Amino acid sequence: MSSTPALLAATATDVGRVRQHNEDAALAVGTLFVVADGMGGHQAGEVASRIAVETMGRLAGRAGLRPRDLVEQVEAANRAILASAAEHPEQAGMATTLAGLAAVTVGGSEHWAVVNIGDSRVYRLIDGQLAQVSADHSEVADLVRAGAISKDEARRHPARNIVTRCLGRDPLEPVDTWVFRPHPGERFLLCSDGLTNELDVAEIATVLGREEGPQTLADTLVARAVASGGRDNVTVVVVRQGIPG
Ligand code: MN
Repeated sequence: MSSTPALLAATATDVGRVRQHNEDAALAVGTLFVVADGMGGHQAGEVASRIAVETMGRLAGRAGLRPRDLVEQVEAANRAILASAAEHPEQAGMATTLAGLAAVTVGGSEHWAVVNIGDSRVYRLIDGQLAQVSADHSEVADLVRAGAISKDEARRHPARNIVTRCLGRDPLEPVDTWVFRPHPGERFLLCSDGLTNELDVAEIATVLGREEGPQTLADTLVARAVASGGRDNVTVVVVRQGIPG
């Protein structure tokens, strides 16, 4: 938050060991953080995720940001993706997830706001406890919520890559938001599903809680996901207070 100048963040990404292209994108600037996981043929997924991240990035540095501003920017990103696809036939149908975290002002005080569409995730670590803030829009998440499969089964399910909401669709499906107060010592992780399908939450919590700088933490998480199989692109943003590097 702006009242805690020692807030530090880092991004890391890797194409993984199977895919030919990295269609993920990430942004960490000031108190604005975004991960997007693109989908589409002819490398259009790269275009969709880049448009999403760049559009969100225009909010960076804007004072007095409100949760509504974040949602409106997600709507602007959707329009930009649709406009690009309309102009370039090879981009037809391109889509992307988007998970974002930003410092916002609510009732005159600083809060965090999370926005999500798709199956990229925002996690919060407090006192060693890792909690997923966002809720996935995916077929396997629906099955978990219905009690049909466990979270661990979801990570290996053949339908694990199928999202039920994404950007690049007209009309835009609802964007979920969460607003909450900052907590001393909290850390955040934003990630694409290439991380969470390879590493379980216990391992993610252990790494994220280490006394290391955000770049080391981000690089370690990505390297472990790639070593565990790297079946998808892997992208993370790590946000913490304190140690640089
Ligand atoms: Mn992915």
